[in-house]
Amino acid sequence: MSATLSDAADVRRMDAEDPLRPFRDRFQLPPGVIYLDGNSLGALPRATSARIAEVIGVDWGEGLIRSWNTAGWIDAPARVGAKIAGLIGAEAHEVTVADSTSVNLFKLLAAAMGDRPERRMILTEAGGFPTDLYVAQGLAAFAPHLQVRAVAREAIKAALDADTGVLLLTHVHYKTGATYDMAAMTRAAQAEGSLMLWDLSHSTGAVAVDLEAARADLAVGCGYKYLNGGPGAPAFLYVAERHQARLRSPLSGWMGHAAPFAFGDDYHPADGLARFLCGTPPVLGLAALEVGVDLMLQADLGEVFAKSQRLCSLFINQVEARCAGLGLQLVTPRDRRARGAHVSFSHPQGYAVMQALIARGVIGDFRAPDILRFGFPALYLRYEDVEAAVEVLREVLASQAWRAEAFQVRATVT
Ligand SMILES: *Cc1c(COP(=O)(O)O)cnc(C)c1O
Repeated sequence: MSATLSDAADVRRMDAEDPLRPFRDRFQLPPGVIYLDGNSLGALPRATSARIAEVIGVDWGEGLIRSWNTAGWIDAPARVGAKIAGLIGAEAHEVTVADSTSVNLFKLLAAAMGDRPERRMILTEAGGFPTDLYVAQGLAAFAPHLQVRAVAREAIKAALDADTGVLLLTHVHYKTGATYDMAAMTRAAQAEGSLMLWDLSHSTGAVAVDLEAARADLAVGCGYKYLNGGPGAPAFLYVAERHQARLRSPLSGWMGHAAPFAFGDDYHPADGLARFLCGTPPVLGLAALEVGVDLMLQADLGEVFAKSQRLCSLFINQVEARCAGLGLQLVTPRDRRARGAHVSFSHPQGYAVMQALIARGVIGDFRAPDILRFGFPALYLRYEDVEAAVEVLREVLASQAWRAEAFQVRATVT
């Protein structure tokens, strides 16, 4: 008991001394909720509602079609992309915002294989995020000379060979939180003449990423996770400048044309990254995403990443100290340099345990077959939230409250 009391005093002091403390107020968080799922859907920045109301009421309602030019709508993909570039160590003209992560994966995988026509293999990690595997499989079904090979993490380097056109990896694993050494894996792929495509969905805004230092080739990532862009926010894609003139998007829509408003019959890709746009940009989604990205850019990023790591470490330590013997097994690397900003524990009744937590206002998520996943975005979480969440977890496990009938029923989205 005394250990618990001194823990509580420690976390209050850590919150009082937290330089990021003012950022929590910039989010609209529901009372009575400890939100540990910002790695799946980021929280709502307070500024978003007013900004969206302005874009709808003024830019759309009054500006109407003029706003494509006068309200910066047409430039939004490049403008917001340039801001995201600042979060991932890229140059402004190497990132643009378009489509979903899944669609961007398709575009870049196809572009990479088109750039290495003598090679057949798309190599990726078995057990990676499903859409990454599915999109690669879909491309191979559509272009039957291509093949997809998914191998265990430890076997990736050995599986790279002269037939590998592209290596696709998620930098922070969505389930375990384990990270790859981006520079080392990129070098390994490039040493075989392959292109390296990074999925940064669980990395952007969560951990330090330096695409330039890693000499990365290609990347994609999500707008609605740590960037707080809102449900279904548009995604981003990165193509290193040295590849931009050669690579071609398979989705040759008019927004990627060199002169969309010349309305010619034949497709000529735009110079630069704009060629990876397809159709009309989703203006409302871009506006919300821009608010989230602007907010993150106001914070000291080194502090953001360091605080997320401290939150993760505190959570791991507290769970292991207070929930010992209650069926949880740490899945995430203990070494803070080897993980992202979320922590996963397995539990044989993981789904029901998570439902019981959510019923008590502690929101994380469940990933089949048995993973309880908790995200620790630094901008709006407090150390005291970690402390309180662990106490709820301990109570749910110790009382076996998860056994209630209601917690066994699977919803569509977990
Ligand atoms: C969240 C996530 C995605 C999401 O793709 P969508 O097209 O936005 O549904 C893709 N890849 C990874 C690794 C993710 O974590």
